[in-house]
Amino acid sequence: MRLVIISNRLPVKAQRNNNKYTFSKSEGGVATGLNSLDIPMEMIWIGWPGVDVKYEEDKQYISKELKEHNYYPVFLTKKQIREFYEGYCNSKLWPLCHYFYVYVKHDNDHWSAYQEVNALFCNKVLEIIKDDDIVWVQDYHLMLLPKMIKDKMAGVNIGYFHHIPFPSYELFRVLPEREEILKGLLGCDLIGFHTHEYMRHFISASERVLDLNYNLDEVWYDDRVVHVDTFPMGINYKKFNDAFLESEVKKNVSQLKSSYNGKKLILSVDRLDYSKGILNRLKAFSDFLKNNPQYQGKVTLSMVIVPSRDNVESYATLKTKIDEAIGAINGQFSKIDWIPISYFYQSFSFEELVAMYYTADVALVTPLRDGMNLVAKEYVAAKRDTPGVLVLSEMAGASIELMDAIIINPNESREIENAILKALEMPVEEQVNGIKRMQATLSKQTVNKWADDFIQELKEIKIKNNELSKKLVDSERESIIKKRYDKANNRLILLDYDGTLVGFKPRPEDASPDEGLINLLSDLSADKKNDVVIISGRDHKTMETWFGNLNIGLAAEHGAFYRDNGTWKENVHKDVWNDDILAIFQKVTDKTPRSAMETKETAIVWHYRKVDPWLASIRSQQLINALIAPCTRNNLHIVKGNKIIEVKYPDCTKGSEVQRLLKIRQYDFIMAIGDDTTDEDMFNALPENSISIKIGNLSDAADYNLLKQSDTRPFIRRLSMASGTLSV
Ligand code: UDP
Repeated sequence: MRLVIISNRLPVKAQRNNNKYTFSKSEGGVATGLNSLDIPMEMIWIGWPGVDVKYEEDKQYISKELKEHNYYPVFLTKKQIREFYEGYCNSKLWPLCHYFYVYVKHDNDHWSAYQEVNALFCNKVLEIIKDDDIVWVQDYHLMLLPKMIKDKMAGVNIGYFHHIPFPSYELFRVLPEREEILKGLLGCDLIGFHTHEYMRHFISASERVLDLNYNLDEVWYDDRVVHVDTFPMGINYKKFNDAFLESEVKKNVSQLKSSYNGKKLILSVDRLDYSKGILNRLKAFSDFLKNNPQYQGKVTLSMVIVPSRDNVESYATLKTKIDEAIGAINGQFSKIDWIPISYFYQSFSFEELVAMYYTADVALVTPLRDGMNLVAKEYVAAKRDTPGVLVLSEMAGASIELMDAIIINPNESREIENAILKALEMPVEEQVNGIKRMQATLSKQTVNKWADDFIQELKEIKIKNNELSKKLVDSERESIIKKRYDKANNRLILLDYDGTLVGFKPRPEDASPDEGLINLLSDLSADKKNDVVIISGRDHKTMETWFGNLNIGLAAEHGAFYRDNGTWKENVHKDVWNDDILAIFQKVTDKTPRSAMETKETAIVWHYRKVDPWLASIRSQQLINALIAPCTRNNLHIVKGNKIIEVKYPDCTKGSEVQRLLKIRQYDFIMAIGDDTTDEDMFNALPENSISIKIGNLSDAADYNLLKQSDTRPFIRRLSMASGTLSV
């Protein structure tokens, strides 16, 4: 088993200098974090080598060099880099996910390039992966890839990690390609996010866009369970914590100390990006100097900006604005022996960067949005036991873990300004204690643990999906059932209706039986050896209208009514419905658009199939809460079914109807098929040796599993055909 990591960029980039290629480390949080993984399994990387390569022999050279390190390049053309990377990824997905709607560019060519490049990655992946590999797709550049791989290699274990924020549904819904993107991700077995907030947004978007029905953090999708979870990405803690022990770092620290000569040092380190809130930070620093003149000449902001995406227009504009703002502040406040901002538009080596972390009195990390922000974590780790204060934006994923930072809202300049003052004046003991507490968290939640946790959970989902397949009615299990069917002389075939014989419709009354179903049921019941019974939650009048002409058994309202020799009989003595209960149902129906109420003789049902999932969960809980007291008083049951809540008399269930039927005749073949919780009563009431089949998600009560409703009818048809009774 190997771990195959697929990211837009490889952890190294190739560069062309004088017609020769050299290789260096890629920048950015994802590349840095993933590159330091120490996982006890063979690791393979697939990604773009960071350069456009024209000639085939150059591609071969780069591939050969990279293969030595288990890196496999995917080469992109200039046009693909422009339209896929700079276009769809960085001018659409990135601003959207970071809530910068004004920067979102809609361009159909960019979307085509995104599809094309994801397909290109897929081809490369399929060349390399084997069935038992673990495939781990990284980040928003490759959101279509999981489905593309799954479509070609259904058995392979696929995970995806989203390194940036996942926006609220209200923003995500503006994406014209929202459906394809979500379906692409759901090709995974496990989808990971840094925080529960991003996870919540993803679940809510996929429930609303794809009409999915999550069971907490899992969803039954495309015949599999897909799991969604949070895994806050950590850093290589030891590397940063021990860095000061290296002589080169020590040398850099003493140089920095002498150059700042007793002045307080505030550090900020970011890639060039509008999401990092650099301009807000500069304004706050300028206001701080203005409003706290006692600090002029005594504090320096060291601002490191790592060049990034400067081919994208919004980034080039941002760069100009930053240059201007820094120039203006330095122009306004500088003294003969002091410049307020030391500005570096470049990246630094590890030894230089950690020396800055170690020396800085304050780290100012104020992004407007950031998936995680590793700089904040690295600063805390590199501090060892020296004092320091982290000022951190609440909009960074890291703020959920780093509780001892001074947390600010980066949109409020005053808050940043006050936080700078508070940080500079914080007693040393308080600083050291805060850093220690945060270090305790970071030393546990390392990048390795992040990867281990993810891979472990991915393996567990695979085991779970394998368990599911053990009950699946495949050709082998079907032939076992068929043999028993053919051998039997007295068969009882119990069928649920909605979700089993027909699919769900927005309005329950629209799910009437079609001609194909009527034919199937009449053919099945034409065999003298078969007793076919539909056991449904529907009311008996509807069932009579739909199936009255067929020679089959019918049980309505979960067995409260049954048809015996053509006449309907009641199993329960029913009272007139209590007005209080009716009023509760009426109120929740009136308050909930798209919901409906159904009054049966022995039950009242609230249907919420088409209701927004969030509203439905609130309203159903409110309904249940309101019903508990009157139902307890009147000895009524509250049942939660498939997008319904039902109050019913307790005497009858689908199980009691099965028991009634079993007393009438002896059978040598009993089979029940159903999809809902109420069908579990039916499965549980079956004698040993019966065959119970659950549609959709697995149930402990059923022996077998059919993946979806549309599999039921062909299965029944094949079963009955084998005995030679069915005309096709
Ligand atoms: N970094 C670096 N050299 C530098 C400045 C930053 O290698 O000169 C690294 C830094 O150590 C961190 C990453 O760049 O690991 C930035 O990650 P972060 O999550 O803060 O932001 P991202 O770039 O992913 O948006």
